[in-house]
Parts: sequence; C-alpha cells; structure tokens
Amino acid sequence: MADYDFLIIGSGIAGASAAANLAGRARVALFERESAHGYHTTGRSAALWSALYGNDPIRALTVASRAFYDAPPPGFTDHALLRPRGCLYFAGPRQLGRLDEIAAGAADLGIATRRLTAAESIALCPVLIPGRVAGGLHELDAMDIDVNALHQGYLRMCRAAGGDVRTDAEIVSLTRDGGVWRAALKGREVVTASVVINAAGAWADVVAGLAGVAPVGLTPLRRTAFLLDEPDGVVARDWPAMIEADEDFYFKPESGRILVSPCDETPSEPCDAWPEDITIAECVERLQAWADIPVRRIVRAWAGLRSFVADRTPVIGFEPAAAGFFWLAGQGGYGVQTAPAAGRTAAALALGEPLPDDVRARGLRPEQISPARFRA
Ligand SMILES: Cc1cc2nc3c(=O)[nH]c(=O)nc-3n(C[C@H](O)[C@H](O)[C@H](O)COP(=O)(O)OP(=O)(O)OC[C@H]3O[C@@H](n4cnc5c(N)ncnc54)[C@H](O)[C@@H]3O)c2cc1C
Repeated sequence: MADYDFLIIGSGIAGASAAANLAGRARVALFERESAHGYHTTGRSAALWSALYGNDPIRALTVASRAFYDAPPPGFTDHALLRPRGCLYFAGPRQLGRLDEIAAGAADLGIATRRLTAAESIALCPVLIPGRVAGGLHELDAMDIDVNALHQGYLRMCRAAGGDVRTDAEIVSLTRDGGVWRAALKGREVVTASVVINAAGAWADVVAGLAGVAPVGLTPLRRTAFLLDEPDGVVARDWPAMIEADEDFYFKPESGRILVSPCDETPSEPCDAWPEDITIAECVERLQAWADIPVRRIVRAWAGLRSFVADRTPVIGFEPAAAGFFWLAGQGGYGVQTAPAAGRTAAALALGEPLPDDVRARGLRPEQISPARFRA
C-alpha cells in the first residue's frame, strides 16, 4: 500500500485549500519546497476579492467561495477573512464608455455597482486630481481578504485532520510503478502515493515534466507591487481599491500605507520573481498623472508570478494521459479569492465525485477546467 492516498506538491493557497478538503477523507501529504508556506505567489498578492474580476469560470469559483469567507468552520480563524473595501474604477473624459461597459457587465451578473460623478469619486478618494477624473464606477461589494488567516487556517485544518504537512520538501522526481507514484525528495527520502496533485504554481509544467506528463502551456506572468507612504495629513484607510478604467494601474490602502501595482504581465520563467526599477518608475509617473501622491521613497517593492494557461481558466482535474496525475494549476490573478471553492472542487474531482452542487449551480462545468481541453 502507498504511504499516502494523495501527495500534493506545493503548499501555496491552491495546495493548502485542496489538502484541507481532502485530509480526514484520505491520507494526505502536502509538501513544499521552500522553508515557508506561501513564500511564492500566495504571499505576494494584493488580497482583493471581487466578483467582477476574471472570466465566467473564475467568477463562478469566486462567488461560490463567498459563503466560506463569510462563515468559515469553527476554529478556522480568529479573524474575519473579509473586510469591506469596495472598488472604484475611475475614468477620464475619453474613458467614460469603458465605465458603461463595466457597469453593463456587472448588471448582467447581478453585481451591484453605482455610477459616480467626478466629485463623488473624489469624495471617496480625495487625492484624485480634479479635472483629470471625469467619473467613476463603484463596485460596492469588493472585499479585502486576510490572506494569511485563510492560508494558515487551511494548513491548520489539514494538520488537524492528520495531514502530513512539510516545508523544505522539494519533489525532484516522480515515477509510476505498479499503480503507485514514487516521489523522491531532495535528499534521500522517497515516498509513495496513489495520486499526485500538482499544485506547484509557476512550476506546474515543470512538475508535470518530472512525471513524464505533457505541459498544459502555463505562462508565468510577472506582476509588480510596491508600497508608498500616505501623503502628509492623508489617511487612506477608507479608500476603495482604486482601479484605472483601462486597468493601467491600481492603488489601494494597505496597513497604513498605499499599495500600488502597474498591472504588469511580463512573461517569465518560473523563478523567485523580483520587481524592476523601470516598471516602478513608469507606474509612479502614471499614478501621479491621476492622483496627488508625492513619492519620497518606495517603502517596499515585490513581484510575484501569476500563472495562466491560454484561456486564462484554472486547470483542475485528472490528466487523461497519465493515471493518478491531477492538475491544480493556472490560478492566474485570482487564486486567493477562488481558493475556497477551487479547493473543494479539486478535492471532489480527485475523489472521483461530481463538482460540488453550489459550484455547478454557479454555472461551472468540469470540461471548462479539465486538462483534457489541452489534449484534443
Ligand atoms: C502582485 C500580485 C497581486 C495579486 N492579487 C491578487 C488578488 O488581489 N486576489 C487574488 O485572488 N489573487 C491575487 N493574485 C494571484 C494569487 O496570488 C495567485 O493566484 C495564487 O497565490 C496562486 O497560488 P498557488 O498556490 O497556485 O501558487 P504559489 O503560492 O506560488 O504556490 C506554489 C508552491 O509550489 C511550490 N513548489 C513548486 N515546485 C515544487 C516542488 N518540486 N516540490 C515542492 N514544492 C514545489 C513552490 O515553492 C510554491 O510555494 C496576485 C498575485 C500577485 C503576484
């Protein structure tokens, strides 16, 4: 008999949420290469929950995640997982049509938004430059996520149900023998598992290669973020997340500072991503064209890899060409907000069950997320 029913490779939010949903129902190992869980993309996000964000399958997973965020199981966390934030899409005179498009899309989805005048937009975010902003669209129900509480909650839930959760546990080879995976860790140890779940983030195609499985064409895209001090006399705490109408950049309050992102999507090899000075400098220029935020220093800057396949939809399901190999990859820029439903979906499919009813009710179909769509 194999040591584990499921060996999950990568303990970011994807692996952790799936592990928590499987542990207790099966023997689970959750192995992470780094010394800290969440060292890569999960620890670098902007922590926003927005039902407007992403394509139809993403929105289905985002909305189906909401009940968990609002009422996690007892003992999962001491903190609220969501805090009201709101998103304000702001536009100049020539971009007002874009606000109409976003508003129409939101109305189709039943998402509450409110059109704002320039003055109303400035009232919500007083650093906006009068004359530059011509109007706004307020997505009322967008939230800040406590990513650390969510991630730690899942890791605790997995351990409490008997899961073997490890750091400094890099999988370096995978071979299938007699219906069981033999996974070699860096060092000498070898473990066996009936099913391998590939939740390796930007490295998911690399891990597939270890198992002799064809890639799904994952492209890691670098995204930069940096923190600025609040301007003198300004308290940003209650601003909405401020998104330029064409998503040229955004800024939002973050622990007494202002988080800014240029919305960059620069293709990268899987790596420990690092921001580039020029990307930050150009973003500061764009920010200051819209907002009166003097920039005396960059408090901290970072970058992370948002990994997408061609249709920008996650890949969740068994690989048709390799027995016992399960994909949980391609979460792109939405892996945190979708994690509660994506983790349940992954666990159900890995156990051979149908999609969870509430996820199906939101319109998600298994074929939309299946790796089989790359194998035609
Ligand atoms: C700047 C930025 C802003 C973002 N904002 C948001 C947001 O507002 N809302 C949102 O929902 N999402 C956001 N995201 C996206 C979100 O962070 C990701 O979708 C999510 O974190 C992906 O999680 P993951 O578990 O797939 O990947 P990761 O967190 O990268 O985890 C994968 C793990 O696999 C491990 N691994 C790889 N290979 C091996 C191996 N061989 N053996 C063992 N372990 C291995 C890696 O070390 C890594 O820790 C943002 C991302 C960035 C960069």
